Amino acid sequence: MKDAPLAVVIGAGSTGAALAHDLALRGLRVIVLERAGIASGSTGHNQAQLHSGARYAVVDQNSAKECIQENWILRQILPQGLELNDGLFVAVDEAGLAYRPRFLQACTECAIPWRELSAAQALQMEPLLNPGLITAVQIPDGVFDPYRLCLSFLASACQRGAQVHTFCEVIGLDPALMQVTYCQRRALQTAPVRLRADVIFNAAGPWVGQVAALGGLLAPVSPSAGAMLTIDRRVSQRVLNLLAPPGDGDIIVPQRTTSILGTTSWEVSQPGDIPVPPEHIESIYRVAEQLVPAVRQAHMRGAMAAARPLLAVEGAQGRSVTRAFACYQHSSQGAPGVFSLVGGKTSTARLMAEQAADLACAYLGITPTCQTRTTPLASYRKWVSA
Ligand SMILES: Cc1cc2nc3c(=O)[nH]c(=O)nc-3n(C[C@H](O)[C@H](O)[C@H](O)COP(=O)(O)OP(=O)(O)OC[C@H]3O[C@@H](n4cnc5c(N)ncnc54)[C@H](O)[C@@H]3O)c2cc1C
Repeated sequence: MKDAPLAVVIGAGSTGAALAHDLALRGLRVIVLERAGIASGSTGHNQAQLHSGARYAVVDQNSAKECIQENWILRQILPQGLELNDGLFVAVDEAGLAYRPRFLQACTECAIPWRELSAAQALQMEPLLNPGLITAVQIPDGVFDPYRLCLSFLASACQRGAQVHTFCEVIGLDPALMQVTYCQRRALQTAPVRLRADVIFNAAGPWVGQVAALGGLLAPVSPSAGAMLTIDRRVSQRVLNLLAPPGDGDIIVPQRTTSILGTTSWEVSQPGDIPVPPEHIESIYRVAEQLVPAVRQAHMRGAMAAARPLLAVEGAQGRSVTRAFACYQHSSQGAPGVFSLVGGKTSTARLMAEQAADLACAYLGITPTCQTRTTPLASYRKWVSA
């Protein structure tokens, strides 16, 4: 019997992990190559908010609709990996109140359920909220653990035969031969390994342009950095968002016994090792304390920055860049078996994987359909490192 097609996935962040799961479920052989540890890129350094889409409802309705769709799906397939306390959008001034009608209308248009709360109700739910708040809106945000989310996708893929090789950096990509070359970074001295595949997925996040360039290909990514602060206590049980157009530092996410405040946004040419600009720390605090004045009394455990692999769109910068995603089949560059995934969010990783795998199956001329919408993911505890 003929072997199933072999898919090589480059990168084990949320995108690569979700892709490995989707492809393995469709019966493909899958090898994931990750140059460092699982979720060591943007995924492991994000704010961990399971988006309801409300943040994007006014400014980016496609992304908002994708977020709410995937939010409902992840609740079904990954219940053990999520904290589902919802979220609040909180108006603390007249500008927030003025934004409210557009916000509610847009949430309705995107099928994001909402419930308006009085100030007293909101304070009863979240006692550390700004006591001067004017109104609050409850929406179905949540919290994920980025590392465990990836482990669940990968454990599920491995149960169906996928192999995940960490500390293996792809250093060459030959689209004509459909070959990747990688180095094992943990071995003292090893020769580069060459691997031929039927389809190659570039899921290298903000490095997607650099990996594409190894094969002389172009992937339209515009890495946008964001800084976040972690403080040493949970100041809320829910995700807190400022009721205003998306801006810097306007979200607080409870994560285990800490809270993550953020984010900011600026363009970077190099997506790795991004220092946090000192002035961003103060600007994040300034906005976060409008939501919860007590953030100033907590100790800052750390500040970090990572890059979003945003889609490059001509003329768009910073917050105006769409959070949508695209899966590029590099056919027009002579590499129809190579696919680059750009944009999106961890919250929408499953959907990105579905669309990429659909494209690849069409290219391979095979017809297995996507099953990830309804297949429960394995627990992260089932992950066993090779
Ligand atoms: C500050 C910030 C906050 C965010 N907050 C949220 C949030 O709250 N909720 C949400 O849903 N999304 C959030 N995001 C977006 C989300 O983090 C990203 O969209 C998502 O993590 C991208 O996943 P990825 O797998 O594509 O990229 P990555 O997680 O970066 O994974 C790419 C992987 O490829 C590997 N790689 C790179 N080059 C090579 C190579 N040559 N060989 C082998 N491997 C290679 C890297 O090591 C890395 O592990 C945030 C992003 C940022 C920056």
